[in-house]
Amino acid sequence: MGDLMGGFTLLQNYVNGEWVNSNATEFLEIINPATVEILGKVPLSEAKEVDQAVQAAQQAFTTWRRVPAGDRVQYLFKLKVLLEEHLDDLAKTITIECGKTLAESKGELRRAIENVEVACGIPMLMQGYNSEDIARGIDEFMIRQPLGVVGIICPFNFPAMIPFWFMPYAIACGNTVILKPSEKVPLTLQKLVQLIEQTGLPAGVVNLVNGTKVVVDALLDHSAIRAISFVGSTPVAKYVYSRAAANGKRAQCQGGAKNPVIVLPDADIATTTRIMADSAFGCAGQRCLAASVAITVGAAKQPFTEAIAEVAQTRTVGYGLDDGIQMGSVITTDSKNRIERLIQQGVDEGATALVDGRHPKISGYEHGYFVRPTILQDINPLGDLAKTEIFGPVLSLIHLDTIDKAIALINQGQYGNMACLFTSSGAAARKFRYEAEAGNIGINIGVAAPMAQFPFSGWKDSFFGDLHGQGHHAVEFFTQTKVVIERWHDWTRQF
Ligand code: NAD
Repeated sequence: MGDLMGGFTLLQNYVNGEWVNSNATEFLEIINPATVEILGKVPLSEAKEVDQAVQAAQQAFTTWRRVPAGDRVQYLFKLKVLLEEHLDDLAKTITIECGKTLAESKGELRRAIENVEVACGIPMLMQGYNSEDIARGIDEFMIRQPLGVVGIICPFNFPAMIPFWFMPYAIACGNTVILKPSEKVPLTLQKLVQLIEQTGLPAGVVNLVNGTKVVVDALLDHSAIRAISFVGSTPVAKYVYSRAAANGKRAQCQGGAKNPVIVLPDADIATTTRIMADSAFGCAGQRCLAASVAITVGAAKQPFTEAIAEVAQTRTVGYGLDDGIQMGSVITTDSKNRIERLIQQGVDEGATALVDGRHPKISGYEHGYFVRPTILQDINPLGDLAKTEIFGPVLSLIHLDTIDKAIALINQGQYGNMACLFTSSGAAARKFRYEAEAGNIGINIGVAAPMAQFPFSGWKDSFFGDLHGQGHHAVEFFTQTKVVIERWHDWTRQF
């Protein structure tokens, strides 16, 4: 961390292996959303600081790409050990700046570590292929080479996991990286980069520039940046994708979501309710894979509605560092106000607030940004709220009489991040898996988050691009293929 500024910790950028003060003239406060304590200040860096980082990364690339892949991943093995050693401290930092519970922060870090583990397999994962004798005495090879400098732009809700959907693969494949954390939660990535530094990674391979739109635009416009990985809201994802593509860059941009879950009458209602509550209210609903709309079919309506309302009412809400807390705060006061406004919009569109979590009093944290779990019964499937990402602990209920109607409703949606089904029927599960238009499908699963060896497969307005983050997709995204055709013959031969 950097110098003190008016008594607050001032975050620094990490460029060419050095922690440096930004030239910024503007700073934002980093606020603990539960206690409203100011944790530090983050500089809003300028475009020329992005240029300095890109130049360092470009320079580092010339040597880093020549380091054998097996040697490159040794830094990741070291990073894995450091992440395990510092897990408790990192989890605390996530909770303090992001508001989720300590258990959720630890879960997030496990997901980050999994990506490091999978990227350790790059020496094999980035292999090409070859055919001998495509014609007599001629051989053909496909080899994978790194792209160069890549930019990684992150949202607030998973400050550790999301950069790790991309960064370990990018560097293991021989690229160099500029990381841009969310300005709302920059402390976690600062600590993670300090651990990366401890691995002895050569200067300039990983760089970090704090800031907002100015930094993003500078990355999108810089001619030396070859690829952009972005995660955030759909309007910004679309913007980043278009501008990156217009500048000839590769881009993978993950956007927002509105995740529907169907509950069939043959589902085990008690288990379904427990899993659904974790999905809808975990991380205070600020997950791109949070269940947001439950569609009950037939006789599932009454038992599920009663059970989920009971769980919503009894969820323990508070500061994520305190014992026994099941749900933390939302990220900002703006976010709290927006969620509460959207709950009212649902009511105005005809829903009943069966459990109304607005304006809660959380003892000891009266000024924190809390919204309690909320259940909106019978929302209008054609209304605006049914289509709007709330990104808070709000579960909307819709009732339909057949699975076909439920799948049709899902497929009308703008987003396609996740869709889930709860049932005991293999036939229903197969039909759903086959027909539902979403990239991540859960069958009796509430948060269908792909493991690191699978792509994070959003569809429709939840993803712009082709290759997703994690696993094989990440390796393909961060490499370019080169095809070589070779003839080695005895020059004395006559043609
Ligand atoms: P956001 O779009 O506000 O910000 C994301 C990043 O973009 C930040 O680094 C921010 O500084 C930058 N940014 C914001 N506005 C910008 C602009 N106008 N021009 C250029 N850059 C800009 O998102 P957020 O609020 O931090 O994160 C929540 C959103 O992210 C939700 O919509 C959620 O669904 C989505 N999300 C999606 C996934 C996924 O895998 N699909 C995962 C996590 C979060």
